[in-house]
Amino acid sequence: MSDAVAPTSRPSPGAPGGPVYEWRHPEDTTLHKVVRDNLRTLYAAVEDGYACAPLPAFVRAELEGYLDCGVLCRGFALMACPGCPERHLVAFSCKRRGFCPSCLGRRMAQTTANLLDHVLPQTPLRQWVLTVPHALRTRLAYDRVLLARVGRLFVATVLGFYRRRLGDLRVHPGRGQSGAVTVVQRTSADLKLNPHLDSVFLDGVYAPGADGKPVFHALPRLSTSDVADVLQAARARILGDLRRRGVVVMDDDSENPLVEDDGFSDRESALAHLAAAAVSGAPPAGPERRSRPPIPLRGHPGVAVTAPLTVTEMGFSLHAATHAGAHDARAREALVKYILRPPIAQERLRLLPDDLVRIVLRRPFRDGTTAIDLDPLSLLSRLAAAVPPPRQHGIRYAGVLAAASKWRAQVVPPPLPSPAAEPDPQGELPQRPSPPPTWRCRYRPWAELLRRAFAIDVTTCPRCGGPLRLLALVKDPGGVARYLRHLGEPTEPPPRSPARAPPYWKSRAFRRRVAEPPSLLEE
Ligand SMILES: [Zn+2]
Ligand SMILES: [Zn+2]
Repeated sequence: MSDAVAPTSRPSPGAPGGPVYEWRHPEDTTLHKVVRDNLRTLYAAVEDGYACAPLPAFVRAELEGYLDCGVLCRGFALMACPGCPERHLVAFSCKRRGFCPSCLGRRMAQTTANLLDHVLPQTPLRQWVLTVPHALRTRLAYDRVLLARVGRLFVATVLGFYRRRLGDLRVHPGRGQSGAVTVVQRTSADLKLNPHLDSVFLDGVYAPGADGKPVFHALPRLSTSDVADVLQAARARILGDLRRRGVVVMDDDSENPLVEDDGFSDRESALAHLAAAAVSGAPPAGPERRSRPPIPLRGHPGVAVTAPLTVTEMGFSLHAATHAGAHDARAREALVKYILRPPIAQERLRLLPDDLVRIVLRRPFRDGTTAIDLDPLSLLSRLAAAVPPPRQHGIRYAGVLAAASKWRAQVVPPPLPSPAAEPDPQGELPQRPSPPPTWRCRYRPWAELLRRAFAIDVTTCPRCGGPLRLLALVKDPGGVARYLRHLGEPTEPPPRSPARAPPYWKSRAFRRRVAEPPSLLEE
């Protein structure tokens, strides 16, 4: 570490000629405070057997990683501008996939840009969201093979709907092909475990034109009855498949699926308990009750309408109301961001004076609920269930957007013009010429590697516009402490509260409704 870069004093922001440091302080956020104040209590409750769910190792790693994410005293990269005294400290990120709002937010932004720039053609887009009955949620939450299967059946059903509907309109019967990007979201807006499928479909089909090249034909109109048809077809396909595999048996009286015991809870007892608790509302996840007044849909016995283009049947529900025009850049971005959203956004959490935490909902629930108040330990339990098991992740492409589709290269957006060569003033990092751009381009310039590996977004000096350069990765505790002492920053992470004594869970959840006093759901 060179003395030339060692900071000697905490700079005043924007002081001319002086060094400037920038960092975020995740330890000041509500979520960080709630997690560090309650994590030891959660561990204690689990060890005491108060919780019905032991914590799997990957969940513990996620919680611990989150507490270190972005905290300077856990290490940082030092960035410098060769042309002026500009300096940046950039703390390391946890880069985890469970709930860290900062890491997932960054991932959402990058993936959104990638999908809009390189994958989704300039066609109208429609979001299709399938949720499954409570009985299936526990199983799907931790069985990635089964979840992937359900996802494929669902997407195939919607693709089939587009092909048939446009075929009926004499657009190349049987030869039209839509496309989809599908993401598994694990939780509802109130963080309850609810693994569901969020898809963006091209709202129409590609069919071969006169020259054989794919031409897009938009779906003229979607009705609630269409959505009901798709839901019924998807439900029948999914349940039929799960029945053949022995995953569910049908209860003759209620026609509700009963999930067969396949030994999963013996093999993976921690996961099974965690999922069961988080779905059912038993501690540690906190109770839940939601009113669902059904409106029967004419011509579709058993199907109820809950909102425009939103229907339910036998615990399955399908939502298809969100649409973005081919040239509505803002709506397209919002739609893609929505399916990639992190389970909890930092700004939706509030600390209440009565020791409760509030989750403010982005959109009110159907019953008017605008926020959920719950005890902090219940929030931690929901966060724990929001963490996907290893390797259960990813974006799936289908139809014309599938990697194997012969049309994919013809329908995805054309490559962007070649970016200017990456600046590298000192020649310290290897510099390669940019290869010809293609949508499958795997080349990553060093700035992007920094971005990906260390979440370092800073590449341009905010003062002189010159290129920022990585001076050092400061990881050893001695070096970190030396730097931070110079800056007057804390050299230790904020302390964690000790474990509280039982009773651990207050087991209460309040639902705040518009213009209504809070209602206590259950004790
Ligand atoms: Zn993180
Ligand atoms: Zn500069």
